[in-house]
Amino acid sequence: MASSVIAIDGPAASGKSTMARMLAERLNIPYINTGSLYRAIAWKALKLGIPCKDAARIADMLETTRVRYAVPPEGGNPDIEIDGAFPGALLRTQEVAQGASDVATLPLVRRFTLDIQRDAAKRQLVVMEGRDIGTAIFPDAAHKFFLTATPEARAKRRLSQGGETPDGATVASVAAEIAERDRQDSERAVAPLKRADDAIFIDNSGLSIEETLQLLLKHVKGNES
Ligand code: C5P
Repeated sequence: MASSVIAIDGPAASGKSTMARMLAERLNIPYINTGSLYRAIAWKALKLGIPCKDAARIADMLETTRVRYAVPPEGGNPDIEIDGAFPGALLRTQEVAQGASDVATLPLVRRFTLDIQRDAAKRQLVVMEGRDIGTAIFPDAAHKFFLTATPEARAKRRLSQGGETPDGATVASVAAEIAERDRQDSERAVAPLKRADDAIFIDNSGLSIEETLQLLLKHVKGNES
């Protein structure tokens, strides 16, 4: 039997989070953002002054780190709880994003995060979004999508969202930051960002949010009947 997961993978700022959240809402099921897991680990490391690529020190840190998905006190989708706290918006900075990409290259980190992600989909169908959900975490996911857009479209979206971009950022500077993160995510040895052979490929550069959502819904509902 296929895993009860709708997997949405793709590069940075490809619209995965927006789509995953909206799809989950329409289907009335939880949405799980797995980037937050790597971001939370990087956030803690940065707070402790630990370099995000220092495997030995990150391993030590994880010995005493408790991470899980839990519904935050204000309700809504399960979110990352690390050492009893919900860092939420604190994870949405460029520094934490780059740190997340760094810790995500470490095999020990990917081993640490595997069960946390699998546990999050144990009880019911969920929409899970990341880089390796359809390839490494749930190769037998019920539905798989690979979402992307041109680097320029992605940089523009990231800029219009504010928050994660530094003051004075331009489309070119954001595109360069995203390109560097995608390069590292695609070239790493373990669970690199890549499209699963059986994932539905969607380039949403010229599509509206609603158009993209309708495409996803069509596939999910189509496969049910
Ligand atoms: O999706 P988001 O931008 O929040 O992810 C931050 C980083 O976490 C990515 O650049 C990637 O390196 C890592 N990540 C990953 N595998 C996932 C989700 C995120 O390696 N499933």
